[in-house]
Amino acid sequence: MDLHEFQAKGLLRSYGVPVPDGGVASTASDALRVAKELKGDAWVIKAQVHAGGRGKAGGVKVVNTFSDVYDVSSHMLGMKIVTKQTGPDGKIVRRTLIEKATDIKQEIYLSFLVDRDSEQHMIIVSSEGGMDIEEVAENNPSAIVTERINPVTGMGLFLGRKIAKKIGLDSSLLNKFADVAHKLYNVFADHDGMMLEINPLVVTGDGDIVCLDAKMNVDENALYRHPKIEEMKDYGELEPQEVRASIFDLSYVSMDGNIGCMVNGAGLAMATMDIIKSYGGDPANFLDVGGGADVNKVREAFKIILTDPKVKVIFVNIFGGIVRCDLIAQGVLNGSDEVPSDRSIVVRLDGTNVEEGRKILEEGAAKTGLTIVTADTMADAAQKAVELAAGEEKPAKKKTSAKAKE
Ligand code: ADP
Ligand code: MG
Repeated sequence: MDLHEFQAKGLLRSYGVPVPDGGVASTASDALRVAKELKGDAWVIKAQVHAGGRGKAGGVKVVNTFSDVYDVSSHMLGMKIVTKQTGPDGKIVRRTLIEKATDIKQEIYLSFLVDRDSEQHMIIVSSEGGMDIEEVAENNPSAIVTERINPVTGMGLFLGRKIAKKIGLDSSLLNKFADVAHKLYNVFADHDGMMLEINPLVVTGDGDIVCLDAKMNVDENALYRHPKIEEMKDYGELEPQEVRASIFDLSYVSMDGNIGCMVNGAGLAMATMDIIKSYGGDPANFLDVGGGADVNKVREAFKIILTDPKVKVIFVNIFGGIVRCDLIAQGVLNGSDEVPSDRSIVVRLDGTNVEEGRKILEEGAAKTGLTIVTADTMADAAQKAVELAAGEEKPAKKKTSAKAKE
């Protein structure tokens, strides 16, 4: 789950990490009130959307007068911001963060990640702050320092000082850097972070170290033990389908193709996309109904898939392990009244009670008047789905050859 910058900075502040004073606004007058409360003579107005690269896209502006605070905020609120990370559709700015402007002497990059290879946390620091770390990695890799963090000792001060020396920080800053890195790590680790990126972490004119930006992502699967973080979820940042999916505990990711997929298990979902591609088709989504799929979930999954107007065919690929195929088949039939008559459904079921499931589908299909195609193998089903989506139904391959492909 992504946090907004202001939410992440709230967490950082509660751990004693230095961040600029600031407040959130959803109207221009709110923004003015925040700036007046902050006092000073320069402020930064920052669009709060789940994406980096805002600076280059007009989502971060420094202003010097109250009237500019008002004008820039009213322009920014409601505007659509498009950055490398938002995708071409961009994101609407619903809130801004107003902060005191910081006197920047030096910008540093710092992030914590989970390194799956070593099964440890990792810290990445670069002397080239304020730039995309991917660009630095390509153009000037020697400016990047990475270290793995021992899960028992955590981010020790000694490690922070070692990194600070490696990136060439002034010796007067080694302890301050180590202290900030130590506290940042605690924020990250205590909340089951997947990523915490501070870009830039800056050295101020007064020789302090301050976090000017904060991007944080927390493991969705760990939210049950962080109710306060879960409350921060901003449904306004999600696609409407993703919101519906999250209510019913389904994982949904929208894609560009025209074959809607309903699958149980993330592994099978991936394999389903691959096989659709290998037959020349394009998946419209990734939808995992999970292990506990029942009739209601299947119905909801149909509704969600069909909100995408591109979908021509729904490919149901379910392996009945804990869930029984006959229940899924019943769910498909019940859910099929959501499906307009110009779309087809291709179903591949396997596993527990598969024969009963197929029978239910075959008998039911006749009643619904919908095209419900059943297939024995994944390859056979994928091929049929691709053909139907392309509008060129060909005779199905012989099952034996389809099986051999699987
Ligand atoms: P993004 O990464 O989305 O572009 P940042 O928060 O990193 O957004 O802001 C972009 C740039 O704006 C920073 O690299 C920094 O130079 C400047 N900036 C951000 N916040 C402040 C601040 N409080 N005071 C001064 N400059 C700032
Ligand atoms: Mg940034």
